[in-house]
Amino acid sequence: MGDFFERIVDVEVTGEEAGPLAERMVDWMVAEGLITREMSRDGMYSLQVDDGYEAGPNWERAVADSSDPSWIPGPVAVIVGRDYHVGGQGASEADSATCPRCETRTVIIDYPEEFEADEEVWQAFSDGIDAWKETSEGSVVCSGCGASVPVTEWQFGSGFDLGALAFDFWGWPPLSVGFCAEFSKRLGHRTEAQMGKF
Ligand SMILES: [Zn+2]
Repeated sequence: MGDFFERIVDVEVTGEEAGPLAERMVDWMVAEGLITREMSRDGMYSLQVDDGYEAGPNWERAVADSSDPSWIPGPVAVIVGRDYHVGGQGASEADSATCPRCETRTVIIDYPEEFEADEEVWQAFSDGIDAWKETSEGSVVCSGCGASVPVTEWQFGSGFDLGALAFDFWGWPPLSVGFCAEFSKRLGHRTEAQMGKF
């Protein structure tokens, strides 16, 4: 049904906790019959992993509408490790970043005049995110208040999230509100949802 994904990002889990938590979530989804332990790479294009878990016999329980018999969901990719996740299509930068201390909003992609990031402005965030990925700590100095703010605290524009654990549902019908709530509850952390296309 096309090369698109729905992604749930755990934006609070630490890099150390992400692996064990991913295993518990897979165990739960297998037990519920939402996925199986069979791996597949058909119709999935996650950047970080090549294979995902195939949909299980009860996959309908996770979606809002399963009435189209021709709609068979693809694999679920489980992405472990500190990384940035981008919804939409193609971009690898956030369109803006807002300081949590002073609310100053830094524009990175100046829609609708521009469709590309201001590389000079993005560089500090890119460096901070790289440092966070490598060491779990990275900060960017706010141009408004001068505070050095960890990258995990900046509020990036929609569709750009940092997290150490993410799940890509490839080609699934829209996940139900109830399933997403249950999923977040089981993670025990705040989550962000993204949609995207390969
Ligand atoms: Zn600030």
